[in-house]
Amino acid sequence: MVGADLPLPSMNVGEDSFRHQGLRRKLVDQLRKRGIGNVEVLNAIGKIPRHLFIDDSAFVEMAYADTAFPIPCGQTISQPWTVAFQTDLLQVGKGMKVLEIGTGSGYQTAVLCTLGAKVHSIERHRPLYLQTKERLLRMGHKAYTVHGDGFAGLTREAPFDRVLVTCGAPFVPKPLLEQLKPGGRLVIPVGEGAVQEMMLITKDERGTLFEEACGQFKFVPMLSERSFGV
Ligand code: SAH
Repeated sequence: MVGADLPLPSMNVGEDSFRHQGLRRKLVDQLRKRGIGNVEVLNAIGKIPRHLFIDDSAFVEMAYADTAFPIPCGQTISQPWTVAFQTDLLQVGKGMKVLEIGTGSGYQTAVLCTLGAKVHSIERHRPLYLQTKERLLRMGHKAYTVHGDGFAGLTREAPFDRVLVTCGAPFVPKPLLEQLKPGGRLVIPVGEGAVQEMMLITKDERGTLFEEACGQFKFVPMLSERSFGV
């Protein structure tokens, strides 16, 4: 059972030591060398203690390796390079209203908040939603977290300046396109197999949509409505 309020491992609420900060600086250097040139995104990653988004404090080194990592409910915290790449594509400005699908650990949410966005983030696994809501609150990130189905978006808060999907979608859900403002950007990995194509979809002022393929990535799948809450 995934939808019920199962107990999760106790939350890592440890400190952010000089060692953590040093490891983080190395990670930012690595991302810069791998081609992330967006200084604001790099600064945000440099500020956020990623190790506190991983439940087991024994894995500090892993928290700052450029790799994905397991989190509860069989999900993963995205690889830092993927977070940087998606956030860069999104082009987030201060005060923008952003919809994120797949809250997971809340790390990507924290990056968006640090960039000054007003983030609404949807997670389908209730235990993860509950844990991450508390984590973000404790860290002082003012994100609006929702337990729900990302395929439907969030009608009551639409439209959004930006929409970011952090799980592999079988197709581009129509509600997400409808909930995007003219001038908006939607970043979504699309594909049903092991690999997805990162799609950037932009909507011009007249509402016309444009698509651009931006490379291949691996995400956990976006789970359909049918399996929602199971
Ligand atoms: N942004 C996250 C990545 C988590 S992995 C982070 O930084 O940690 C992707 C997340 O998408 C998982 O937590 C998974 O449960 C969630 N997910 C999958 N299908 C979903 C759906 N239909 N609606 C909302 N969330 C979904």
